[in-house]
Amino acid sequence: MDISVVIPLLNEDESLPELTAWIERVMQEHQYSYEVIYVDDGSTDNSWSVIEELRAKNHHIKGIKFQRNYGKSAGLNEGFRAAQGDVIITMDADLQDSPDEIPELRRMIIEDKFDLVSGWKKKRYDNKFTKNLPSKLFNAAARQMSGIILHDFNCGLKSYSRKVVKSIEVYGEMHRYVPVLAKWAGFRKIGEKVVEHRPRKYGVSKFGWDRFINGFLDLLTIFFMGKFGKRPMHFFGFWGTMSFLLGTGVSLYLFISKLINYEYPLTNKPGFYFAIAAMLIGVQLFLAGFLGELISRNSAGRNSYLIETKAGL
Ligand code: UDP
Ligand code: MG
Repeated sequence: MDISVVIPLLNEDESLPELTAWIERVMQEHQYSYEVIYVDDGSTDNSWSVIEELRAKNHHIKGIKFQRNYGKSAGLNEGFRAAQGDVIITMDADLQDSPDEIPELRRMIIEDKFDLVSGWKKKRYDNKFTKNLPSKLFNAAARQMSGIILHDFNCGLKSYSRKVVKSIEVYGEMHRYVPVLAKWAGFRKIGEKVVEHRPRKYGVSKFGWDRFINGFLDLLTIFFMGKFGKRPMHFFGFWGTMSFLLGTGVSLYLFISKLINYEYPLTNKPGFYFAIAAMLIGVQLFLAGFLGELISRNSAGRNSYLIETKAGL
């Protein structure tokens, strides 16, 4: 099979018929053998019945329905597992990505031998302050932390060689950083193609403000995992020991000075030292919490999704 198109979706019933027809048109024009794998990530609208109707008319259309909403990463992951094509293309279901890009995205994998090609929405029609600016900052940080020079990590439109998707596991919120997962798995030829950004035609965006918090934690995760070879605990162990030794030293110093001088050194206000102690406890709490995040993002959170039903797979 030439191409598998993997499309994770949540409540996109209005877009699906138009998107499917467009993909079919491109596939027929180029005479590709193909499949479209819709992964219904717990939709509460009619998305699943629309997918079944589309499949009744064209057996290249396939579907996986999750038990509930698990997030875009889980959707991509399950689509990757099911995909049979030599080239796997991912796109969003909301018609913001153009299926007309498929032939070139495929060609770059087959002929130029890229492992992965990521879409770059160079010209965007989103709000400058709530979307464009934060996404610029995220991309700059992601470049810095991953060492991969891409302008638009989060673009839903990407193409992969079969080997890449079968070698990686997309988990947690890592759908934003699939190229990083590919790089960690040893795939180095990562390319970029400018693609058209189209405004959302139906429905609403599924990502709110919490995307910034999640995106930020993922960036930290990338940084730590990249730097400490998936063993971030070493970082915490080292700095935890250092701060413990420092804290013990300062406490001893304070205690002994108090015994000798009957007053605190430097300032005579004990509150000053308590404030510093409280701050250090805050730092410890943050580090402990972040360590929990890292662990759950690395192992516990993986693949804990249930499939309700499948169509054609
Ligand atoms: N999506 C999903 N699960 C979710 C949230 C979103 O499968 O929990 C899908 C969504 O239906 C769409 C794609 O992920 O196909 C991108 O989402 P959206 O268009 O809402 O994001 P935006 O374009 O606003 O960044
Ligand atoms: Mg969208």
